[in-house]
Amino acid sequence: MKIAVAAETRDGESRVAMVPELVGKLTSLGYDVAVEPGAGQHALLSDEEYVDSGAVIDADAIVDADVVVSVQPLTIERIRRLRRGASTVCFLPTTFEQDAVIDLRDCGITAFAMELVPRISRAQSMDALSSQALVAGYRCAIVAAGMLRRFFPLNMTAAGTVQPAEVVVLGAGVAGLQAIATAKRLGAVVRAYDVRAAAAEEIRSMGAKSIDLELETLEGAGGYAREMTEDRAARQRELLTPYIANADALITTAAVPGRQAPMLVTAAMVEEMRPGSVVVDLAAETGGNVEGSVAGEVVRIGNAQVWGGRNVPSQMPGPASRLYAQNIVNILTLMTATGEGTETGTFAPDFDDEIVAGSCVTHDGEIRHEPTRTALE
Ligand code: NAD
Repeated sequence: MKIAVAAETRDGESRVAMVPELVGKLTSLGYDVAVEPGAGQHALLSDEEYVDSGAVIDADAIVDADVVVSVQPLTIERIRRLRRGASTVCFLPTTFEQDAVIDLRDCGITAFAMELVPRISRAQSMDALSSQALVAGYRCAIVAAGMLRRFFPLNMTAAGTVQPAEVVVLGAGVAGLQAIATAKRLGAVVRAYDVRAAAAEEIRSMGAKSIDLELETLEGAGGYAREMTEDRAARQRELLTPYIANADALITTAAVPGRQAPMLVTAAMVEEMRPGSVVVDLAAETGGNVEGSVAGEVVRIGNAQVWGGRNVPSQMPGPASRLYAQNIVNILTLMTATGEGTETGTFAPDFDDEIVAGSCVTHDGEIRHEPTRTALE
């Protein structure tokens, strides 16, 4: 059977779903691998490297493929070129991609969404949300360090001592913890806050100080954060104000699954920051943790430069693609039939498996993902 690696066509997407280094994993499962020309170019991967790894370059790779892998969902025009019964594996944010979901259903495509892979131990190696959040968290800390016109670390020199930068991180999930770890490695003094009870210990384990606001913790299903009430949000903002006023760099990474990012920091709070301060809002694209941040832009609020993240993992396309491609190899391995008498390279997802069932959006002309079906009916 044939796996096609799609070239990303969406604006600003630099990643690619498969890297030459991992093509051999797919061919050793028994698949033929076809890559669209230039698919890896923005991640600095040439067509020749794919060919040397055992793939073929084919401008029509997706047309007769059994499985198409990509980072972003295919455009509707490209979905309509797929063969009925083919499968797609990519990020598929169903809330924002309803037209694509309808087309995938109507074209008889089996679509798997990487963000729906259940967060269970067995699926950790397929967890692309985590692998990409890791890249984004690192990048946020580096952006903050780059924008700040002062040292992150303490410097004791013959010419005197320069105090380290004070960094505050809000949201300590995968991205936030990586931002903390990176800022710590660069020598900053880091304080962090998250609404989940377990987060305080995780923050301390990264060498940062956990900010204790003496507010109730907010844990929802699966260990994720719950949405705040407006009263709780206002109190949290009030209690965080002095920490933010004292920060040289503020990095925000808070998210609540299926919801707009919570607004944690008002423009008035940013205005309390010192001249030269920087704010990095990873959540700018999904509503923003910081009032006034704009995805893909740097805006000035009071004395601070506020950087709004836009497809942040794509800003480090090489490592982000490598990690994503490994997630793809792992999920395709799970979906490949094994056992006596099975031909190698047979893509046969077992819908009784909770990872397969959980990540499936459309199959057999139906929308299988319950919340999406409800939203569309
Ligand atoms: P996320 O991207 O959904 O959210 C980022 C962080 O924002 C979370 O830590 C959340 O608690 C925090 N947050 C939400 N509202 C906030 C607020 N008002 N103030 C401050 N912080 C707020 O998170 P994530 O990185 O996907 O991780 C979420 C959970 O999933 C964690 O418990 C993590 O340990 C868990 N997880 C499990 C697995 C696995 O088992 N395979 C993998 C990754 C993450």
